[in-house]
Order: sequence, then structure tokens, then C-alpha cells
Amino acid sequence: MAAENPVAGTWSDETIKAALADAHIPSLMAALVHLTGDRSHIKLEWKPTYDFFGDGQGGLPQSAVEEIRSKAFAAIKAHLSGQAMPDQPTEENLRPLMDFVAGAEIPERYVPFLLEELSVANGRERGAPAPFDAPADAKAGFKTLIIGSGMSGLLSAIHLQRAGLAFEILDKNADVGGTWFENTYPGCRVDNPNHLYSYSFEPNYDWPFHYSTQDILYQYFRNVADKYNLRPHIRFSTEVISSTFNEMTNDWHVIIKRPDGTRETLVANAVICAVGQLNCPRLPDIDGRDSFMGTSFHSARWRHDVDLTGKRVAVIGTGASAFQFVPEIAPKVGHLTVFQRTPPWLGPTPNYHDKVSEGKKWLLRHVPYYEKWYRFWLFWMLTDGIYDYVKVDPNWTGPKTAVSETNMLLRSMLEALIVAQAGAKPDLAPKLVPQYPMGGKRSVRDNGVWISALCRDNVDLTDSPIKRIVPNGIETADGKIHEVDVIIYGTGFTASDFLMPMKFSGRNGVDLHQQWDGDARAYLGMTVPNFPNLFLLYGPNTNIVVNGSIIFFSECSVRYIMGCLKLLIQGGHKAIECRQDVHDTFNAEVDAGNKLMAWGVEQVTSWYKNARGRVSQNWPFPLVDYWTRTRTPAPGDFIFRD
Ligand code: NAP
Repeated sequence: MAAENPVAGTWSDETIKAALADAHIPSLMAALVHLTGDRSHIKLEWKPTYDFFGDGQGGLPQSAVEEIRSKAFAAIKAHLSGQAMPDQPTEENLRPLMDFVAGAEIPERYVPFLLEELSVANGRERGAPAPFDAPADAKAGFKTLIIGSGMSGLLSAIHLQRAGLAFEILDKNADVGGTWFENTYPGCRVDNPNHLYSYSFEPNYDWPFHYSTQDILYQYFRNVADKYNLRPHIRFSTEVISSTFNEMTNDWHVIIKRPDGTRETLVANAVICAVGQLNCPRLPDIDGRDSFMGTSFHSARWRHDVDLTGKRVAVIGTGASAFQFVPEIAPKVGHLTVFQRTPPWLGPTPNYHDKVSEGKKWLLRHVPYYEKWYRFWLFWMLTDGIYDYVKVDPNWTGPKTAVSETNMLLRSMLEALIVAQAGAKPDLAPKLVPQYPMGGKRSVRDNGVWISALCRDNVDLTDSPIKRIVPNGIETADGKIHEVDVIIYGTGFTASDFLMPMKFSGRNGVDLHQQWDGDARAYLGMTVPNFPNLFLLYGPNTNIVVNGSIIFFSECSVRYIMGCLKLLIQGGHKAIECRQDVHDTFNAEVDAGNKLMAWGVEQVTSWYKNARGRVSQNWPFPLVDYWTRTRTPAPGDFIFRD
């Protein structure tokens, strides 16, 4: 958890020098401008290069690196001895620094968005409390129920608390954390850089890993809940069964199942549904699944009581979860068979399991603005770094294994890396190279451990389709019966069944799932016609595949929802409901956009598409578009009722 940045303190020259040896140089260069006002090192010949797959040091000459370290050493010493900081750069002066650190010419329309992400310009912070001026009695009578105390539920609570609005959180789990509470499988860790995968207003200078493990993420969200004193507002082990909108009173009547199994009805003016997309494990429809006589479980319900040592284990699935736990269990089990239907694309990430060095942590904590610029750099690298590579070129006439020339280029580069890694088992490489375009599914972060696990003597990967499950194992289409003691399902979640198994009944008794009819849609992922005062977080079409962090999306969404509540309360209205035509126009745009992305093309099947084949999960546009569209709700998009 972020602590105050102690400006005074005694640090030896060795400590500072050791920290500087670990510095991310482009971020250090920018921090140096803040510390000294001196911009002389921001020169064209020292401009870092864009460095998505590299070491992030911007390819600067060693002489430049040494000079920057030495200037930084003097500046940090002066700062720590109490020397006042110079006047801070104006927004105008920050702009060239942004280009410089990113190693790119940042397009003009991104500038306000990135300035906010950088949050060095006063009052620009996305996580900053927004003024919520409304008559005290209007606020006092208004209550919101939040369903879910994961990342976005906690975020909603923090903003409601800051606005002075009453709220209560309901969670079926026994603690906060959502996905980080539920997924405890071995090797579970975040696949977004942690210095980015954190609330913009709650940096953690002490992330132990660049991509931390589940226990650390879980603890981060527990700490946030404690810091903002949210626990007294949370009812744990409490399941929401159904919610009905009462048109006479313009409020939601929410039936919950209490921990003792009894039911209770709660009444609230608004409901924020923060249950996410990935909370209902999906067991595959495979013949004979129930006939298996051994032990079986899903990765999100890991059976820690089952000792896998020496056992014959089957893993079904090679998605993001299996990719993380297979290398962990492989050395322990007797024999492991991985059943692959479709291989994942592997994104080279050499520091995936690496610890953050003590020097880096020191800089993040003690050097003003270094952390901001480092986060900014990560943000830009992931914002649209790879976005253009996964966009469909409508004029592409090449093979269907790519969607454009640049996508084909990326394929060749990544394919070569896969083949090189699989050298120990020559028959493995062809199985591991995806035949769908890069970006069709979420790629996984690769530091080599996946393929080296598959190359082990006690591990086999089979891509022969599963025919059925039999009492003693799994039968594949090639006629082979793989005898196993344990089956682990790494088969994902019923993501497109948004909000299931809860029931929502809106105006005129309309049932939400009947209205959706298997094709969940919302305006900006958040509001649905016929369902006043209901807001969804991480709702339809707000998932991201190659760019950004989902926390960014939630921060944008929560700001928007707070804006909606402000319109409602300040205007003295009782209900706010999205207009059908606005919703439909938006969805048509999203559908057209998704058809132009690698994950939207017909040859790709994934959890991003629902049973009708529509991409119901993903946001198809650059991040800046979601940010722009969600900054302030337009009153004209809604119907208000008084
Ligand atoms: P997933 O990506 O949906 O992977 C499920 C796997 O099971 C796929 O390989 C799928 O094959 C396979 N499968 C499903 N049904 C099958 C069947 N009947 N027979 C054979 N194979 C079958 O699920 P996940 O790995 O749990 O990941 C889901 C999402 O959660 C990820 O995309 C990511 O967004 C998130 N996640 C994130 C992290 C992280 O941040 N570290 C970790 C884990 C998960 P097909 O590809 O052919 O369908």
C-alpha cells in the first residue's frame, strides 16, 4: 500500500547508486526534469526508442545512461537533504516529455487522456474525488447496493463514500477480492504489469514482482478495503438471488440469501452490479463427464486437499489459467497429459516471474514523479502498443492465419520463438503454433516455463480431440484411452452469461435475461434500457484483449456511474434509464468495430463470442475512446423519471 513519500531521510551514497543502477532510464530522465527543472538531457539524439518487447531501457547509448544516472544521483541527494523542488513543468512542457518517455509521437487526441493517467497535473487524476454537490437531504435518502466486493465493487464503494452517499456491498464470498479471492490455483498471478494493475490512486511502491502472485493481489485488495474502512459496509457469504425494480417507488427490491440460508429483501435506489465476467466456472459438455471415478475439479475451485504428488493427472484446456498452473504441477505429478484444443499465442515477457529489485522499489518510493512516469510508460506500452497489429485490414488477401500484413509479421516473429523453444521435442512445435491470427484470443505471457514444462519427460500434450470421459480416464478421437487419477478442468468461465444466476426484473416486469435472449448488451457496458438505476461494471463489451488494464476500465466506468447518480440526485429525479436508440446505435458501432479486430473474425472461436457468434465481451476501440465517452454522461442519452 502506498505510504507517504518521505522526503527527508538518510540514505547512503551506495544505496542511491545501487538504486540508480536498476532505474528505468526513460522514467528517470523525466523525473529528473521535475527534480531539477533542467531539461538539457531531453535531447533528440537521446530520445528513447519505442520498446514493447525489449528491456524497456529505450536503447540509449551507455554514455547517456551514465550521464543521466550521475545527474540523477546529485539531484536525488539534494532532494533528500531537503532542497526545494523547482516550479513544476506546465502541461505544455509535459507534452514533449510524454513523447520522449514513450519513444513515440503521441497523437494529439491522446494527450488529455495520458495527462490524466500520468496524474501530475493538478486535479487531473482519474481517481481523485469528484465534487458531488447535491442537497444534503437528497443525498441522505439515497442508497446504493453494490453486488460484489472485487476490484470494481470496492472501487465503486470508495467513490460513493467520497461522494457522501450511503451504500452496502453484498458478496457471495467470505472475503473481498473477487477473482483474486476465488482463483488460488498454483502459479496464479496477474498478467498485467503490477505497477499498472493497481488503482491509479493507490500505487504500491512495494510490489514484490512485476507480475505478482494471487496472494499478493488478494492482500492488496484486502488492504484497500481496510484503508477505506469498507468492511463494515460489506455483507459477506450473502448471495443475491433476484432484484426487482418497483415502478411506483422507483427503487430496487433485492432478495438476498443470508449466510444462514434465510432470505431477506433489501431496498435501494440504485444497484451497481460488480460481479465481473469471469466468476462462474465452466465445466465442458463432454460425454461421460460424470462417469469419471477419480478426482476432478475446476481451476477456479482448486482442491488444495488433493495431493497431486506422483499422480497421473489430466489437464483439459490451455488457456490463461492452465498456462499458469501446468508448469507448477508438472514437476510434482507422476505423469501429466495436457489436452489442447487450441494453442495460445505466447507474448515474450522475460521478466514475467521476476522480482522487482530493491533498487527499483527504492526509486519508486523516494524519487518524486519516477513512479508516475514509470506507470505512464507501462500504460503507453500497453495502451495501443500492439492494437494496430491485431486490427483487420479489410483488403487483406493473405492466409486466414493472419488479418493484415503487420499481423502476419507479428505471427512470424512469435512463431519463430515458439519453434525455437520446443527444440527438445520435435513433434511438439507444430502443435504449439496457433492457426488463428495473433490477437484472436488473449495471448499469454511467456518466459519459457510453459514450453519447458511441456518438454518434460513426464508431460505429454495431445491435440487429438476428446471423444469422451470414461471412468478411468479420457478417450481421444485417435482411439487412445489416457488413464488418469485426476482431471483438472482449465476450461474457463461462462463469461457471456452476464449476471447469471441472478435474476433482474426491470420496468413492466421485463426479465433481463429474457430481454438479452443470450446476447447481453449494454450502453457503454453499463446501462440497459428498461432497467433504470441499474449499472454494470465489467459489463458487456468492456473486456480488453491486448491493450491496457481492466482496472483502468473500471475507473472510467465508476466515474461515469457517479456522473449518472449526480444527474439523478442533483436533478431531483427518481430514475435514470438509458434510451433504447442510444443503446442500439452504440451496439451497432461496437459490433462493426469488433468485426474489424482479430478476435471478431469468423475463423476464431473463443469465450469472447456468445452462442450466437457475436463478440459480447470485448471493447473493440482504442482505450482513449472509452475514456472520452465515459468522462461525463450526456443527459440526452437518458430518460429521467421524477
Ligand atoms: P479460457 O481462456 O477460456 O481457456 C479455456 C481452455 O479450455 C481453452 O484452451 C479451451 O480451448 C479449453 N476448452 C474448453 N472447453 C473444452 C473442451 N470441451 N475440450 C477441450 N478443451 C476445452 O479460460 P481460462 O484459462 O480460465 O482464462 C479465462 C480468462 O480469464 C482469460 O482469458 C483471462 O482474461 C482471465 N485470466 C487471467 C489470468 C491472469 O491475469 N493472470 C489468469 C487466468 C485467467 P479453446 O481455446 O479451443 O476454446
